[in-house]
Amino acid sequence: MRVLVVGAGLSGLSTAMFLGLHGVESLVVERHATTSLHPKARGQFPQTMEVLRLAGVDQQVIDASPPEFEFRIVVAQAAAGPVFNEILVDSMGPDLSDFSSAGWANTSQERLEPILADRARELGATIRFSTELVEFTQDEHGVTAVLRDLNTGEEQTVGVEYMVGADGHRSPIRQALGIGVTGRGVLGTGVGAIFEADLSSVVPRNALLYLQNPDLPGGGGAMVSTDEPGRYSLSVGLGEYSDQRWIEMIRTAAGIPDLAVRLLEVGSSSDTKHWVADTFGSGRVHLVGDAVRVMPPTGAFGGNTAVMDGFYLAWKLAMVVKGEAGQGLLDSHTPERRPYSEYIAQQQYTFYVERMAPHLDDGTLTPMADPISMLFFGYRQISDAVLLEPGDQGELLEPEPTGRPGSRAPHVVLPDGSSTIELFGCGFVVLTGSPEWAARAEELGLTAHVLEGSDWAKAYGVTESGAVLVRPDFFVAWRTPDATGDLRQVLADIRHQGHSCGV
Ligand SMILES: Cc1cc2nc3c(=O)[nH]c(=O)nc-3n(C[C@H](O)[C@H](O)[C@H](O)COP(=O)(O)OP(=O)(O)OC[C@H]3O[C@@H](n4cnc5c(N)ncnc54)[C@H](O)[C@@H]3O)c2cc1C
Repeated sequence: MRVLVVGAGLSGLSTAMFLGLHGVESLVVERHATTSLHPKARGQFPQTMEVLRLAGVDQQVIDASPPEFEFRIVVAQAAAGPVFNEILVDSMGPDLSDFSSAGWANTSQERLEPILADRARELGATIRFSTELVEFTQDEHGVTAVLRDLNTGEEQTVGVEYMVGADGHRSPIRQALGIGVTGRGVLGTGVGAIFEADLSSVVPRNALLYLQNPDLPGGGGAMVSTDEPGRYSLSVGLGEYSDQRWIEMIRTAAGIPDLAVRLLEVGSSSDTKHWVADTFGSGRVHLVGDAVRVMPPTGAFGGNTAVMDGFYLAWKLAMVVKGEAGQGLLDSHTPERRPYSEYIAQQQYTFYVERMAPHLDDGTLTPMADPISMLFFGYRQISDAVLLEPGDQGELLEPEPTGRPGSRAPHVVLPDGSSTIELFGCGFVVLTGSPEWAARAEELGLTAHVLEGSDWAKAYGVTESGAVLVRPDFFVAWRTPDATGDLRQVLADIRHQGHSCGV
């Protein structure tokens, strides 16, 4: 194995799956005996569904979503009301069909992780549970890692070319690399319980309730449905609570004083935190998911960005491992992912204050962005792995798609009803209206699509005789408005060549 991935959460499994898609096998180690059993992240945004479609698991993920697709997110005093703010009612999310041909899904983390694990294995990954990374060293040739089998206590030393730290918010790997974090720190400490009760008269099957209630410890909490009908979790401010006190708190949160409650499990305490790592890797070790970015769960970006991190890192790592790019391509991981991570963490903090902790509003909140255009599809990735055009100031956000380098390739509906986005994902792709450009691209081993009509050209800011080079992560690397331009030189400048998925 040439790549070791530490952690089999959403980010590690996504990294392994997309490495496999690009033809690179990896070894994943996870100290737990299984994937996560706890109700955590729920819901997949359309951009996440686009990449899951590329990996061939989108339908499985949709099938694993609860049959009742309706989802309700409200800020309320209690499940029975009064409701202070309706965030999402009886739908999964806004209509994003102008931006993507993919829709929403509502699968829980407990169901998504095994789907990613199975697909990663099919694509060549080896996943070892009950196995932990004990320590590692690196030099210019590779990484040496000591792994311990937690069932037998046996230790094994492995040598790999690269290691991915997908080891969660504590990230011993990040700490060993001496990488600091910057942010607002610990915002609060809570504790949760899982219970069963009949709340069908007050909440729909799928619900997330942010509670602002002076009768709950800390003045509020969060109640969320699980995959199991009639089973919920409630989180409140930290304290030592007897089972009887939990039942009282659940009744308060429900707003039903005589609710019959079956308490199933009381969890350990956990902090709500806000920070972003100062850099997303060092040398031959790169970091993804909660290892680089921890934010309040308000907004559902934690799980989605974890999957996307794996997608964004894997193609670069695969090209470097296969000798198709220099290490400089991996240096783009931090400049491309960190500014967006900082922005999204600030946005989740704003959501958190508005929904759960109004007392923290000190006037320094980042205003809420338009979630449709900016948070999901309107962020740019700026580094020397894209060729910015003269006058481009490298802005992070782009409210409307422009097709300029560093931006997501615009979604244009093709004559067969599919999206331009569905043309991308395996290697570099050239879109053009010109057979000459297509021939030039193919000579260089790239995939080229000759598109008819002018809609695509307008959306991508070129003429029909121009060309656009799109990276495997659906981002525009370069474009030329007309017949001019040296594609070979462009690829050399970006320091890599095209390749196809290895499967
Ligand atoms: C209670 C809760 C509710 C949440 N709700 C939401 C939500 O509604 N929406 C949302 O988007 N996000 C939510 N999140 C956040 C989301 O779950 C995380 O962002 C996501 O799980 C991050 O995935 P990850 O793979 O980066 O990290 P993790 O899922 O933490 O995975 C890291 C893995 O690394 C393993 N590991 C660590 N060190 C080692 C080692 N040395 N050797 C081997 N293995 C190791 C750990 O055992 C762990 O399994 C929630 C989180 C919690 C805790």
